[in-house]
Amino acid sequence: MGPAEHEPESVDTVDEILVAGRWQRGLGECIESVDPATGRVFASLHTATVDDVDRAVTEGLRAARGGWSALLPHERARVLHRVGNALDDEAERVARLQTLDTGKTLTETRALVASAANTFRYTAAALETMDSALTTPRGPWLTMSTYQPMGVVAAITPWNSPIASDAQKIAPALAAGNAVVSKPPVWAPWVTLRLARICEAAGLPAGVLSVLPGSGRTVGEALVRHPDVAKVTFTGGTETGRHLAHLAADKLMPITLELGGKSPTIVFEDADLEQALAGVLYGVFSSSGQSCIAGSRIFVHRSIAETFTGELVRRAAALRLGPGTDPRTRVAPMVTFAHRDRVAAMVDDAVAAGARALCGGAIPADERLSSGAYYPPTVLTGADNAATICREEVFGPVAVVLPFDDEEDLIAQANDSVYGLACGIWTSDYRRAWRVAGAVKAGTVWINTYKQFSISTPFTGLGDSGLGTEKGREGIRQYCDQKSIYLDLSGEPIAWATPDPTETRKDASR
Ligand code: NAD
Repeated sequence: MGPAEHEPESVDTVDEILVAGRWQRGLGECIESVDPATGRVFASLHTATVDDVDRAVTEGLRAARGGWSALLPHERARVLHRVGNALDDEAERVARLQTLDTGKTLTETRALVASAANTFRYTAAALETMDSALTTPRGPWLTMSTYQPMGVVAAITPWNSPIASDAQKIAPALAAGNAVVSKPPVWAPWVTLRLARICEAAGLPAGVLSVLPGSGRTVGEALVRHPDVAKVTFTGGTETGRHLAHLAADKLMPITLELGGKSPTIVFEDADLEQALAGVLYGVFSSSGQSCIAGSRIFVHRSIAETFTGELVRRAAALRLGPGTDPRTRVAPMVTFAHRDRVAAMVDDAVAAGARALCGGAIPADERLSSGAYYPPTVLTGADNAATICREEVFGPVAVVLPFDDEEDLIAQANDSVYGLACGIWTSDYRRAWRVAGAVKAGTVWINTYKQFSISTPFTGLGDSGLGTEKGREGIRQYCDQKSIYLDLSGEPIAWATPDPTETRKDASR
């Protein structure tokens, strides 16, 4: 499709990327951005090249050392505050841009922009109140543990919640005094570019932030391998993360990995069923299931399995599919047609292996939905926890119901996964909730709620779900080198290197 068939170029989709302080047309391949609700190309973008990576990193290091790192924390915080406030001011525009690019509902993209704005302000506040420690002296010294910027941080992000993932990485990395080179996903680069313009207008010095959309294999990998990149923070698939961990190991470079999941959500027989049904539906079908924390394995106590599943299926089938811009929509299109087809193929394979689709299970035939990348909420039964559909991440609106009999068996099944990202527990017995929360392999556990987030609460993945932690007050420390300083207070030379006083006396008597 030629440029004439694109939407008129809007200020938010100008074909420019930000390399080393300059907005310019990329010299890499040209990618077309498709609105997944309609299949229409709405913009195109020339991506970055490996040369751009080198320029962005080199200039980033210079810009950080030449000023940004040297600013006092409250001075950097002032810029981050302005970014947060400007995101609020531009919230509707950024949300609509993200809906266009990813298909997500406006309800969700508005929430993501609000979350990004809060992340910038929270990080600014945390930065202003972070102290270095005076440690207890064990000699005649002043001893301190201090923190300093690492240099250049590479932030590599996926397409499923771009503005929030960007903020979660870029805000603390900048707060710590680093330069950041962001590599947004090829499928959804626009909000990251918009965020860069907001950062620029908020007073972030030129060169401190570059945004290099491009393929992971070339641009992303060149960034990770670059000798002057001091840290990588990555959110994405487990296989990519594992590969990047190997590259990081070769450089002995720290890397934070937020990866995939196959999270259990557990409904006990004494759960408040209204609360559980709403939470389970939201946990797996919101974001059209394109969420690392989707509660996609639903363990239900056998005594209520039939009634609970029946009601779940009735409500799932009633969730309205439609474009993200329609306020009635609950399940928006998948991010791309290719991804939708991959989800459909995984369900087909599960059914061929013996599972039964109680609702959904096929690309909708509805004329209204024929031009978009839609897949309906799908509830499967008849698969056991060892089946591929229960082991591999689908990243779509697909849940499997798994009845269980007792707590011990339940925990064994819930933990029988390479992943360990999240878990939901629905019960009115708080002792049981506490016990199960302690026993499940998961970085985050929600009790009688699901998929709720707070920037002040750390987020981590266990097992194949990740390495390291993001968010929380300590989030900024992930982007610092720790340094210990000893300052002598005695004024005395170190004894080892001074003449032995008894020797001196002997010499004198000679
Ligand atoms: P992906 O791994 O394919 O890509 C993620 C990013 O990495 C993209 O920007 C991509 O271009 C880049 N990339 C790919 N190969 C690379 C390479 N060799 N070197 C450097 N960069 C490379 O993942 P995706 O399909 O974009 O996102 C979906 C995945 O992200 C799912 O598995 C999901 O669970 C995970 N995710 C995890 C979290 C979390 O916090 N744990 C949050 C959101 C998404």
